[in-house]
Amino acid sequence: MSYLLITDYSEVDNRIAFDPKFRVTKENFQSLLFMTRFKPEEQELAKCQIERKENNCNHRFMKGYLVLTKNGKEALIGGTCGDKYFQLNEQYNIDKNWLEREIEISSRIEQITKTLDQKYLSHLNKLSEQLNIQRREIFQLKTLLPSSVRKELQNMEKSKNPSVYIEIQYSEISDDGKRVQKWVSDKIGSINGTHIWLYEENIGTYFQLLHNLEETVPEIQPTSNTQLKVLRGWCRTLESIHEIDTAVQKISKSLYDFLKYENLALVTFLTKSRAEREMISKMICSYVSDNDISNDPELLLNNIDKRIRQNYDNRNFRII
Ligand SMILES: [Zn+2]
Repeated sequence: MSYLLITDYSEVDNRIAFDPKFRVTKENFQSLLFMTRFKPEEQELAKCQIERKENNCNHRFMKGYLVLTKNGKEALIGGTCGDKYFQLNEQYNIDKNWLEREIEISSRIEQITKTLDQKYLSHLNKLSEQLNIQRREIFQLKTLLPSSVRKELQNMEKSKNPSVYIEIQYSEISDDGKRVQKWVSDKIGSINGTHIWLYEENIGTYFQLLHNLEETVPEIQPTSNTQLKVLRGWCRTLESIHEIDTAVQKISKSLYDFLKYENLALVTFLTKSRAEREMISKMICSYVSDNDISNDPELLLNNIDKRIRQNYDNRNFRII
């Protein structure tokens, strides 16, 4: 903590020059010595000593200042009262900005030193490894899916609408006694894990953050001479690890959800082309190992379609 910040009332009370009865005016004000941030339980002790008519303000406060007056006495003033009362006082504003700046510098340095330890670095390494593995896995998947299907998956993620529809054939007898065929669309499910297909936005961004973090960490060497702007930037960069962490977890869950058999079976309904459907079916065979599932792509696709027909009393269906 900064030496310019006082958080215990006793620290003020123990100062020889401190006079809790003294009245602070525009005329006797000299400078701000310390900023105070008393604990809530000490709020009753700290009373604002700015002049109010015949009396002291006496307003209770936590955030304020210990001031030096022209006759050498020290007194407390509340932050809000001080800002109002000394609004046009140049010295007050210079001191206030200086205190705020110095205290922020100290607290940023403290925050950085506390954050950047061995645990942080190993966490960062682990995230970097995980994100790289995930990227490879998604690239691999990408080569196994037809591009039209990838595009459709991206659109689903963008529009947040991953529903899959097909059309079922029904026949009806019309008023004039003729049999009429009718196609009725129906939702057969929703695809999970589409998150991984909006690669640039959902993964590329985090690679960028990770890259930035890995580049910045070796540069971080805070001293009291480091510019506040630089310290703030370092803090922001160090904090981005939480964002990366959340992203890695989300990608991991999306990959897991996407690669489930039931989910991949739905993906085969995103294209009308038999060749493309077989390509997806082939991918399912290489990703899902289950004794109940055929590992012959053609047979597997026939089984997927058969099950859909069974769900609709053996009616025909078509992909839309
Ligand atoms: Zn006051």
